[in-house]
Amino acid sequence: MRVIENHPPNGCTPHPQAMVFEIQRLSTEDGPGIRTTVFFKGCSLACAWCHNPESISARPQLHWIASRCIGCGTCCSVCPETALTLLEGGLAIDRSRCTQCGQCAVECPSTALELIGTCWRLDDLVHEVLKDRAYFASSGGGVTAGGGEPGLQAPFLSAFFRTLKEAGIHTAVDTCGCYPRRALDEFLPFTDMVLYDLKEIDPDRHLAFTGRSNEQILDNLKAVGSRMTAGSTPQALWIRTPVIPDATATEANIAGLGHWIADHLKGAVTRWELCAFNNLCRDKYLRLDRDWPFKAHPLLSPTTMERLAGIARRSGVDPDIVHWSGSTRMPTETDDAETDQPTQATPA
Ligand code: SF4
Ligand code: SF4
Repeated sequence: MRVIENHPPNGCTPHPQAMVFEIQRLSTEDGPGIRTTVFFKGCSLACAWCHNPESISARPQLHWIASRCIGCGTCCSVCPETALTLLEGGLAIDRSRCTQCGQCAVECPSTALELIGTCWRLDDLVHEVLKDRAYFASSGGGVTAGGGEPGLQAPFLSAFFRTLKEAGIHTAVDTCGCYPRRALDEFLPFTDMVLYDLKEIDPDRHLAFTGRSNEQILDNLKAVGSRMTAGSTPQALWIRTPVIPDATATEANIAGLGHWIADHLKGAVTRWELCAFNNLCRDKYLRLDRDWPFKAHPLLSPTTMERLAGIARRSGVDPDIVHWSGSTRMPTETDDAETDQPTQATPA
């Protein structure tokens, strides 16, 4: 059973409850085999291009999905804070008044309102993901913790993974690495695999794009590599780099990241994936009443992705570990002349 209780700062007791915004089944991109991915809510970064804007805040958030709304006004009449007004153009949410009580979402007849973010008790979450263990067994899959940043809820994550390991389930964490070392030390002993996001090698640009410098991130990644060299968990490490136009998609960045990986993680990384920018999250920003600086950016071309992957392969890492993924736009005649040097960085 899922519970929503009011405990600061995110509505959950720190442990053994966690704030989760989605559980995605049958995932094939978050580690080996078929996986169930649990998305933890709350992140230490605020990347300008974030594809999960609902993941950044650690608190529950109200979404309004215009296409589902039938304009009945029920939500306005049940809101105890009078935070909702039905206007000609749609539902206006006064977020300064909203206390995220969830009453409007419960009463909405068409699921146009959703409260994103639910507190899960440890036993309930374990029970929920273990429903999929037949898929894990047949595919070599398991459970991945993503987000947001699951490392911000390290005590829960550690207990979650320990319980899964006792049940014989493969565990993976998808992390940005931006949190104190003690958090990493808490969950790594129960983590089979780490998917580590490395976005930008230049600390000032990293700060501009994400709100935080990359020093702690690189430091924690070195610690992951050291554990692996010593024969400890995790047993596998994937690096993932979001390739974002006017931000991380520069030759200097990809070459710099490659040099760093070659220098500090020799032999530890089994896959370095360049993940092409996508704009599928535009509606998520609308539902949160937020603007998105990348809303007008087109997808990258396959030419750009190939060229950046080539730079990655020549950067000193094992070329066989470099891959790129994601949707790209149709190639055009001008793609050969396409430059990857940003005309204007887009800070967070
Ligand atoms: S979540 Fe609660 S306070 Fe916020 S708009 Fe809905 S009913 Fe009102
Ligand atoms: S209750 Fe739901 S369907 Fe009715 S106006 Fe509110 S959001 Fe729209």
